Amino acid sequence: PAQQKPADDEPAVKVVVRVRPAVSLPVDGKDLFFVRRTSPDSIAVGDRAFAVDGFLDDRASQEDVFQQVGVPMIHSALAGFNTSLVCYGQSGTGKTYTMWGPLAAMFDNRSDRADRGAVPRFFRSLFSQIQGNQESSPEKHTSYQCRCSFLEVFNEQINDLLDPSQRNLQIRETTGNGIHVENLTEEYVSTVEDVNQILMKGLSKRKIGADSMNLKNSRSHVIFTCVIEAWSKDLSSNGFSSSKTSKITFVDLAGVDIDESDGAGKNITREERHVKKSLSSLGKLVNILSEEPKPQEDELPYSQSRLTHVLKDTLGGNSRATFLCSISSEHRYRSETLSTLRFGERAK
Ligand code: ADP
Ligand code: MG
Repeated sequence: PAQQKPADDEPAVKVVVRVRPAVSLPVDGKDLFFVRRTSPDSIAVGDRAFAVDGFLDDRASQEDVFQQVGVPMIHSALAGFNTSLVCYGQSGTGKTYTMWGPLAAMFDNRSDRADRGAVPRFFRSLFSQIQGNQESSPEKHTSYQCRCSFLEVFNEQINDLLDPSQRNLQIRETTGNGIHVENLTEEYVSTVEDVNQILMKGLSKRKIGADSMNLKNSRSHVIFTCVIEAWSKDLSSNGFSSSKTSKITFVDLAGVDIDESDGAGKNITREERHVKKSLSSLGKLVNILSEEPKPQEDELPYSQSRLTHVLKDTLGGNSRATFLCSISSEHRYRSETLSTLRFGERAK
C-alpha cells in the first residue's frame, strides 16, 4: 500500500532530554553534573556528544515542556497519526512529575498553576482546539469521540488501573496491526476534567516497589491511552463523509536504576528483573526502528516483552514518538545519567 504522506512535518522519533533540578546543592556547587547544549541538535557531557531533538535544562518549566513536546503532539494527533510521549530515566529524576504533575495541580482551577503536568496541559489544549475546529468551520461538520484507558505493566502482567479486578489481561492483535487489550476498561471523555478524574483514579492504584525502602521507586510501567475518532461530513460537497482514528499514548516507565544501595538488599528482586528485561527489550526495539533501511515488520521484536507488545501500534509504522529522557543534575548519578543518554541515542 502507498505510504501515507506525512502531514505534520514531524520525525517518527524525537528525543528530548530534561534535567531535574538538584535536590540539595552543596554551596560550592561541586556535586553538579554538567550537560551542555553544544548545538541545536546535540548536547555534550565532557567530550562525549549525544544527538538530541531538544534539551530542557534544570530551569525549564512544565509549560516549557508542554510547548516543546506537547504542542507538536497535538498537531500530529489531529492530523491522524498515532502519537506518544514516553518518559524514560532513573528513579527520582522527574518522569512522573513531568508526565502528570502533582495530582493537586490537576484539580486546582487556577490556569496559571505552574507545576501542572504535560498530560493535563495536553488535554486542556486538545479539547479547546477540537471545539475551535468545530466552531470555525461548521460547513465541514466534524464530530469527535475520545475514549481513554489506563493500564499498568507489572511483573510482565497487564493490569487495568481503572478496574482492579481486571488483572493479567491478554493482548490481541487486530487487523491493520492494531493492538487490543482484552477486557480493558474504556471510558469516554469530552473535557479535561473527565481526563483528570481518570488519571487520579488510575495513578492512585499504581504499584510501587513493595520491598524497596524507597517507596517512590515505581516498579511498574503505566500507560494512558486516548483514542480519538473524528468523523467529518463536508456539507459543501454533497455530504462527503470520512473518519480518522488516532491513538495518543503516554508512557511513564519504571525507573532504570543501577545497583541501588537503598534497595532491599543486594539481590535483584523479581520486580527489578522484570523492569530491566522490559526496558532492555524497549531499547532493542527502538534501536532497530531507527535503522536504515527500515526493517521489515516481521523482524521487529515486539513480542519480547509485554511493554513492547502493548506499544506495537504506538512505536514504529506510521507513528510519532517522543522519548523524554529525564536525568539528574548531580554528579553522583553520573553513570545513570550516561546510561539514560545512551538509551536516547539508540532511539535516534
Ligand atoms: P520519577 O518518576 O522519575 O521517579 P518523580 O517525578 O517522582 O521521579 O520526581 C521525584 C521528586 O522530585 C518528586 O517529589 C517531584 O515532585 C520532584 N521533581 C521532579 N522534577 C522536578 C522539577 N522539574 N521541579 C521540581 N520538582 C521536581
Ligand atoms: Mg515515577
